[in-house]
Amino acid sequence: MLALSLAALAGTIAVRTLALDSPVTLLDAEAVAPAPAFDLDGAARRVGEAVRFRTIRASDEAYAPEFDRFHEWLASAYPAAHAVMQKEVVAGRTLVYTWAGSDASRPAMLLLAHHDVVPVTGGTDSQWSHPPFSGTVADGAVWGRGTIDDKGSLVAIFEALEALASHGFRPARTVIVVSGHDEETGGTGAAAAAQLLRSRGTQLEFVLDEGLATVTDFPLLGRPVALVGVAEKGYGTLRITAPATGGHSSAPPPETGVEVMARAVLAITSQPFPMRFDGPAADMLRALAPHAPLPVRVAVANDWLFEPLLVRQLASTPGGAATLHTTIAPTMLRGSPQENVLPQDAAAWINYRIAPGHSAAAVLDHARAATGGLAVEIDWQRPPYEPSRVSSTGSDAFRLIATLASERGSVPVAPGLVTATTDSRSFADLAGDVYRYQPIHASMREFEMIHGTDEHLKLENLERLVTFYARLVATAAR
Ligand SMILES: [Zn+2]
Repeated sequence: MLALSLAALAGTIAVRTLALDSPVTLLDAEAVAPAPAFDLDGAARRVGEAVRFRTIRASDEAYAPEFDRFHEWLASAYPAAHAVMQKEVVAGRTLVYTWAGSDASRPAMLLLAHHDVVPVTGGTDSQWSHPPFSGTVADGAVWGRGTIDDKGSLVAIFEALEALASHGFRPARTVIVVSGHDEETGGTGAAAAAQLLRSRGTQLEFVLDEGLATVTDFPLLGRPVALVGVAEKGYGTLRITAPATGGHSSAPPPETGVEVMARAVLAITSQPFPMRFDGPAADMLRALAPHAPLPVRVAVANDWLFEPLLVRQLASTPGGAATLHTTIAPTMLRGSPQENVLPQDAAAWINYRIAPGHSAAAVLDHARAATGGLAVEIDWQRPPYEPSRVSSTGSDAFRLIATLASERGSVPVAPGLVTATTDSRSFADLAGDVYRYQPIHASMREFEMIHGTDEHLKLENLERLVTFYARLVATAAR
């Protein structure tokens, strides 16, 4: 009897493994328009020029003129694109470009690429191979802050539009480009741009922003994998306050505010949200499984049996674990201002990244339940963002992006979850689908240069970017 049940089990596992099919389907090669000719060396030089503007924080007097000069430079570098597009400025310095299509009945497409950059951490300038705001072209790459995040993409979009416009392309579908000026510090520009489009009743077929890319050493496969973000996590920070009576630390009460606050933080973090093999992380593995070794295929096709194993595998790195649940990260603490003074109130800040399918309200409930009985007050530091919807992998736009990312079928493509936040969240209600992908190839290690030291864009990646955006617009907007 046992032998019979084991045989049946083995049979089920085998059948399910054989039936496993990727949720990603590609377009025929001839369904995608070719890219117009463009000048790669010129594009590299222009990425370098773009990097030299220190567009760090528009709210800072010292940097504000850099933004204005960058906008003037963009207009002079791309005259043909500027001649066919209408340019508007919202929220002070966010750029909204519209290339009106001939068919007003079709929803528009929106490309996003912000032009603010993060600063270089004090004292690390000298560790760069080339100064971070030099925009040096050397060793087959453009070097500097923003070459990947995200000026490289913005310049590539304009290279593509300039080439299309000068070769006589005229879109049937309206093409909109929004370049936020404060993506790294809140995204108010993108929100204002979305409000402008909303006030006009603009419908968007799809949105494409930064978020994920092609990872050349994807762990399960050990080869390049293109990950297209179909969702992004929500974001919120809870402030935990433990009110206390201050006073001199020579005569402390049985418990100080610091202790209550510390207990509250531990109570919350000792009850992590369960990790689940579902949503975009599970879809990613389902898409990659057909390209993976047999044991992975068997496990993914039979997740009803192997879910604990799959979760353990994915959760073996912090980045992988973050795709499986809402994360809880205590980041800041405040006690009294001096070592011999009891705090008037002690406070802790816990940053959450909320998984798709979860909610900010559930996070707040969890924190309140975990700290029940402790004298603390808990509230959001600022209104939280809910996680995004999960965009379709069956839409025309996804299939086009996936086809371009696959580089003639040589790179497996999978949907993925963006664990950070992007400007695209502001446009969710206007768009059928939102995707987050840059066609850049880099190793897991190389991606650490983003917001870090030695950020650089290889010329082969710049070529990929321009070609990708040109073919995307030429196909989706024709
Ligand atoms: Zn960015």
